[in-house]
Amino acid sequence: MIDRVLLSESAISSRLDELAREIDARYAGGEILAVGILKGSVFFLTDLLKRLRSPVALDFLQVRTYSGTSSTGNFQVVRDLSTDIEGKDVLLFEDVVDTGLTLRRLLELLASRRPRSLRIAALLKKDLPENRDIPVDFLGFTIGPEFVVGYGLDLDERYRNLPYVAIWDPTK
Ligand code: 5GP
Repeated sequence: MIDRVLLSESAISSRLDELAREIDARYAGGEILAVGILKGSVFFLTDLLKRLRSPVALDFLQVRTYSGTSSTGNFQVVRDLSTDIEGKDVLLFEDVVDTGLTLRRLLELLASRRPRSLRIAALLKKDLPENRDIPVDFLGFTIGPEFVVGYGLDLDERYRNLPYVAIWDPTK
């Protein structure tokens, strides 16, 4: 049911090189608290962090908003951070911004804990009117509305370990 490769391994790798340079320049040597949103962001996060020169601390949280290929509209923190983020420079890592619900709710929650700064790195953002207000500071690629898998992105836990991003087509 993989329709076609949308982003090859080499396209992702080159874009991560550029993003790492942008991030290093923005933080100018200050420590970044990287926060991965489990599980989809893990491949993006580790590949990107390996490219950074800035000092990095790492934490994760897990939320539930999605089931199968359609958003449930629900938001629940399933696993919270183990770090106090007050006064820290937090960089949130998201795999794909779809409706924007996850990030909208997470930004609200994390901002209430008073980090010094709170920014977003996303591998993908779908070009949709409903997510236009989500301020992605470091974006890998803008894509269409299709459902994608690979490079961390799953369909009911399958396909995460594909080294590329592909369009999933149920009719194939
Ligand atoms: P949002 O809250 O922005 O609607 O959705 C964010 C989450 O939904 C993502 O972190 C991801 O887990 C899931 N999601 C949204 N679009 C896709 C997609 O095209 N493919 C996959 N595999 N997951 C998606």
